[in-house]
Amino acid sequence: MTRAPTQELAGWGRYPRRAGPVSAIRSEDDLRAVVGAGRVVARGNGRAYGDAAMGVALTADMRRMNRMLGFDPDTGQLVAEAGVLLGDVIAAFLPRGWFPQVTPGTKFVTLGGAIAADVHGKNHHRDGSFGACVDWVEVMDAEGTVTRASRKDAPDLFAWTVGGMGLTGVIVRAAIRLRPVESGWIVQRTVPAANLCAAMAAFDAEHAATYSVAWIDCLASGAALGRSLLMLGEHAAAGEVPPAFRDRPFETPARGRRRVPFDAPAAALNRFSVGAFNALYWAKGRRGAGRSVVDWDGFFYPLDAVLEWNRIYGRRGFLQFQCVLPPDGAEAGLRALLEATSRAGQGSFLAVLKRFGAQESRFSFPQDGFTLALDFPANAAVLALLDRLDAIVLDHGGRFYLAKDARMAASTLHRADPRAAAVRRMRAEGGLSEAFASAQSERLML
Ligand SMILES: Cc1cc2nc3c(=O)[nH]c(=O)nc-3n(C[C@H](O)[C@H](O)[C@H](O)COP(=O)(O)OP(=O)(O)OC[C@H]3O[C@@H](n4cnc5c(N)ncnc54)[C@H](O)[C@@H]3O)c2cc1C
Repeated sequence: MTRAPTQELAGWGRYPRRAGPVSAIRSEDDLRAVVGAGRVVARGNGRAYGDAAMGVALTADMRRMNRMLGFDPDTGQLVAEAGVLLGDVIAAFLPRGWFPQVTPGTKFVTLGGAIAADVHGKNHHRDGSFGACVDWVEVMDAEGTVTRASRKDAPDLFAWTVGGMGLTGVIVRAAIRLRPVESGWIVQRTVPAANLCAAMAAFDAEHAATYSVAWIDCLASGAALGRSLLMLGEHAAAGEVPPAFRDRPFETPARGRRRVPFDAPAAALNRFSVGAFNALYWAKGRRGAGRSVVDWDGFFYPLDAVLEWNRIYGRRGFLQFQCVLPPDGAEAGLRALLEATSRAGQGSFLAVLKRFGAQESRFSFPQDGFTLALDFPANAAVLALLDRLDAIVLDHGGRFYLAKDARMAASTLHRADPRAAAVRRMRAEGGLSEAFASAQSERLML
């Protein structure tokens, strides 16, 4: 059994930070030796922004349980340990013509983390969230017993675990289904939208697109409030691959990797630098509007090209705010969120709008509506702004994404989402509250 040295932990936003024992798990036996101790939580690759993957008494680092165990080329089903990275799945299976059915905006997530947060991609409106491609999960409980759960067997455990933020036990292995693709290329179309209303109408008009996401210039105000670039994508057929790659359609062109070499001073990101970036991005996007064929890495994971980009926010870290608002009243709610942000002078470097499709699940984040994600540097003015944004979401019947949360009050979550009380009850009745807990689950009274 590995020792559990103390480490300083943080999520991707580097806020908050907390020191605690972290156990590197290499096998089921390693895991069995630590789960019984209580108030443990599993950690994948630490790409949740806040404190979801920080244990209260112990954090079980799952990245070394990273073997792929089997693949069925007839169904596209992959069986793998929970610590396998999505990027490794792509590296192994894209050359054979398979790609994840659902992927978040970074490939540096583990399968366990993707299942526990039930992550969504740019195709939620068509294909649902990650859980839709999960056939089964094997979950270890506090006694060290591993149960295979699927929609048919142990269906309650399955339903609570997908989107359950690690609070039902530790996912040890899973079976997921990949999608067949003819190439590693994406036919992309960029559609500029002059304001929020035009952006929302564009999502409706382009509902048939497989992938869709809009980048918002969230410093624009007045008549330009919500001006956006809507990006649409389809997997390219073999014949649509750029001529230079047509005889090797799964090859990825070499892409420069840059690393942010130091913690930027917090003052580097301000209304002027973000404003300049947004104005340039908007102008470039408008010029490049229309059709292009781009590789999968650039289309799905533009931020991954800059490793450790979270350091541009400086040592104090940053916060992401992500909510979803049901279609009725979404426009008024989004307008209020963008106006409050613009008024506070806290331009968000990264502002993303997406249309979710319908989804009913035990505790996963997505539901029918529009989802907005905003990044902010961590400082007192932003924390006050985020409380105001929470109130707007509550007023418009929306809910919050726990994989992005680092600071919400328990009362906000419980008002927004009655399912949180059901999670708390399920955990108390099943004896899970004392066994599995994260800094986030304590803060949010789950
Ligand atoms: C650049 C960037 C872009 C992103 N884009 C998106 C996006 O488009 N859509 C989206 O949905 N999310 C997005 N995210 C969030 C990210 O996909 C999720 O936070 C994901 O859960 C991170 O996976 P991880 O392996 O790093 O897990 P961690 O961050 O380590 O953990 C996340 C949660 O999963 C639990 N967990 C991890 N492993 C296990 C396990 N083996 N068993 C049980 N529970 C476990 C943890 O306890 C925690 O609650 C993005 C994040 C970044 C940094």
